[in-house]
Amino acid sequence: MNARRAVGVGSDARGIESAPDPAAVARRVEQIFVASGALRDGHFQLKSGRHAERYLEKFQVLQYPDAVSELCGHLAALVSGPEGSAVDVVVGPTTGGVILAFEVARQLGVRGIFAEEVHDPDGTTRREFRRGFQLAEGERVLLVDDILTTGGSLLAMLPPIEAAGAELVLAAVLVDRSGGLRSVTSPVSGHAYPAHALWTLELPTYDPGPTSCPGCAAGRELEVPGSSGTKRGVVAETIAEGEASGRRGPGMPPAPAQQAPSGAPPTTLGPAT
Ligand SMILES: [Zn+2]
Repeated sequence: MNARRAVGVGSDARGIESAPDPAAVARRVEQIFVASGALRDGHFQLKSGRHAERYLEKFQVLQYPDAVSELCGHLAALVSGPEGSAVDVVVGPTTGGVILAFEVARQLGVRGIFAEEVHDPDGTTRREFRRGFQLAEGERVLLVDDILTTGGSLLAMLPPIEAAGAELVLAAVLVDRSGGLRSVTSPVSGHAYPAHALWTLELPTYDPGPTSCPGCAAGRELEVPGSSGTKRGVVAETIAEGEASGRRGPGMPPAPAQQAPSGAPPTTLGPAT
């Protein structure tokens, strides 16, 4: 199984030649999310009922292959070195993780598989590698996912990886909203594994009402984002801005020529919550 490790690794993979500045990567990831319309400004009612002035709709960015490819290049770079990939397989949870695992694996020249949510008769849910996907004992694994909010979907991936006897090298996400991702601890074994987010994003939420929510206070129209998709013109406006500034596409603004100095390094990852 590890024979695949020797092929396709390195030369044609993107973004793994250098060790980019994490602060520059974070700025670039934010840029891509904004340009694709995945990070929106407005006045939103979240599922929790609380209000927010920014909203993250991850699938807006996942629809642009160029953007996904670049983002996955940054994930791949986390486990790449001069000798090639430090992992044998990339795994992700459905749904966004399917796309990410595929592209990161493609760039690393390794396998990419995904785990699905399984509902047990007793009402509990867990993740399982189905469809014939298997991890071999000792296989080195990179776990990828899009947005880490509570960490639940990432943590649920750990038991099936451990059950296979595979070795989790790193858990990596595009965006951390949990407030400080540095490790993930298996709910089964209690083992802590290193984790990393390309970009840490704080999205403050507010109690509804003009005394607590700036959006309510300003009388901004309230939007309720849902799984039915984005209905408003915000995304179109964002894309139009990207095109007006000469970008190749909404998901693929040009990479910055140089890394501007950062006032606040975003990589101060606190303890896992
Ligand atoms: Zn409000």
